[in-house]
Amino acid sequence: MPEDPDELAVLDEIQQELILQEQLVIEEYERSLQFDEECLNAILDGLDASNKIICPVCRKNHLTVRSHSVFCPCGLDVPAQDMTEEKLRSLLENTITEHSHRCLHNPEFTVTSGMEEEASLLMTCLVCDFWMILL
Ligand SMILES: [Zn+2]
Ligand SMILES: [Zn+2]
Repeated sequence: MPEDPDELAVLDEIQQELILQEQLVIEEYERSLQFDEECLNAILDGLDASNKIICPVCRKNHLTVRSHSVFCPCGLDVPAQDMTEEKLRSLLENTITEHSHRCLHNPEFTVTSGMEEEASLLMTCLVCDFWMILL
């Protein structure tokens, strides 16, 4: 071990420098990891987007399908049983297709909610008097 205090100071400085460099390398590494993660998330989001269902009520947001409810930021929050995005998509598609076979008018989607009843998603058409509970 060097006894000279000057030499110790120099060693100390070198050590500090090394620690600093190490931190910079770690920071750089973390930054690149973060970037990769962002890229990955963007790609996953892109995949998701093609698989998502646009909310039929507001036609702006994507529906969030949970196993026991379907949710949209616009206020749609309807209980459902064992629901999946695929089931909901085919339900919507089938009902819209079925209606379009006998009526050219675009059906409307609304959410009903009573004080005691649970909310449900309705598809209605005033033109042909179509009325159906989707959820
Ligand atoms: Zn909505
Ligand atoms: Zn109709």
